[in-house]
Amino acid sequence: MTFVYDDQNIFAKILRGEIPNQTVFESEHALAFKDINPAAPVHILVIPKGPYVSMDHFCQEADAAEIEGFMRAVGEVCKIADVEGGFRVISNAREDALQEVPHLHFHILGGRGLGPILAR
Ligand code: AMP
Repeated sequence: MTFVYDDQNIFAKILRGEIPNQTVFESEHALAFKDINPAAPVHILVIPKGPYVSMDHFCQEADAAEIEGFMRAVGEVCKIADVEGGFRVISNAREDALQEVPHLHFHILGGRGLGPILAR
């Protein structure tokens, strides 16, 4: 499929410094910040700095340094956040998954029992 990135999405504005955020970690290739509407005691979003809509877009088109930088950022967030008891990573893509913001993001969720992976 063809991926079209909208640079007016809210995370693009956060990356440009146009909207404030609660940064947890930042590196050359990634930014991690607290979700504005947390679903768990730990709810951190990790985003790549490049213009990728979704996980499939990123994995198909990002270069090795971007992929390593993004995944290392997830590792750093897990060191900083209180997730010793466990955590869940979610990345919603497109309509079926109810993706709201069209810039790739990992939700890092933890700090309590999270229940089953999906409602049935
Ligand atoms: P998704 O449905 O996977 O696209 O999730 C988008 C997430 O972005 C939601 O959990 C929102 O609460 C979160 N969100 C939206 N705007 C902001 C913002 N300005 N700062 C932090 N998180 C945000």
